Amino acid sequence: MKIPILLLLLFSLSACQKASTEQTEKTSVLASNEPEIQETSLERGQVESQPLKNDGTRQAWTDYSAYAQVDEEGYAYYMQENPDISSEIFPLYETGDHKVLLFTFDDAPQRPDSYALEIAQQLKVKDVNAIFLVNGMYLTEERGRQITKQIYDMGFEIGNHTQHHPNLKEMTYDQQYQEIKQTSDLVEEITGEKPRWFRPPFGLFNMDTYRICQDLEMQLMTWNFGYDWMEDYLDGDALLEISLNNDYLRAGANILMHDRPWTNAAISRMVDGYREQGYHIVDPLLIRNPDFEKES
Ligand SMILES: [Zn+2]
Repeated sequence: MKIPILLLLLFSLSACQKASTEQTEKTSVLASNEPEIQETSLERGQVESQPLKNDGTRQAWTDYSAYAQVDEEGYAYYMQENPDISSEIFPLYETGDHKVLLFTFDDAPQRPDSYALEIAQQLKVKDVNAIFLVNGMYLTEERGRQITKQIYDMGFEIGNHTQHHPNLKEMTYDQQYQEIKQTSDLVEEITGEKPRWFRPPFGLFNMDTYRICQDLEMQLMTWNFGYDWMEDYLDGDALLEISLNNDYLRAGANILMHDRPWTNAAISRMVDGYREQGYHIVDPLLIRNPDFEKES
């Protein structure tokens, strides 16, 4: 195992603080101050599916030529394997542009109202790719499956965020395995592709979680910053402001967002704001996973 246990323990302590804030996400959905949802110019399903490469895998679709230098496999970036150190993005080559940001959206496609498809459509208009991390509990009905399939067909990556959004640290290995495997199976059933990204709910995990991700060939990631579940930022304008101006914004940052109306309201202007600051939003299809060590 490449992750030192001590580091994981340290991470777990800091993740508890993150957890106390992300736990408010459940109640935030019910907040009465939800802003109006911005209209998007695209209809559902209007965006065409991405073409497949000869080997059946999908190609990165963002125009990345100005900022990324790809290797022979088509990758230009990697994420630290140890999520305790960071889940930031780094260029594979020194000459690659480091000034990139990764967009990720958790808790998709939320019930009863999901904004994930509108977020995806707005991103597509801006030529920005991202990872949508889904909860399997939303994929047991047609509505959630449709949304996920449409987002996938638009070229976005679908990641795993567990079946029921539990605190994995309180669960046995077998319980965790169930939570994680069920969602991976549902995603594969819907998209035909196994997810390669995993984010533990509340940022809480232990060595069992890490082993399961290795076994299922998913990279476990946390995040650098995110604000859309905090009380002060459940509004498009406030969320935009803090997202563009905070101490954690830096090259390689992994930005955590959610399937929320205020995130939907801010997302398009966030892209503009980051681009004005000289950042590229990295196409996740350019990020190479580490070699996974399978347990025998
Ligand atoms: Zn979550």
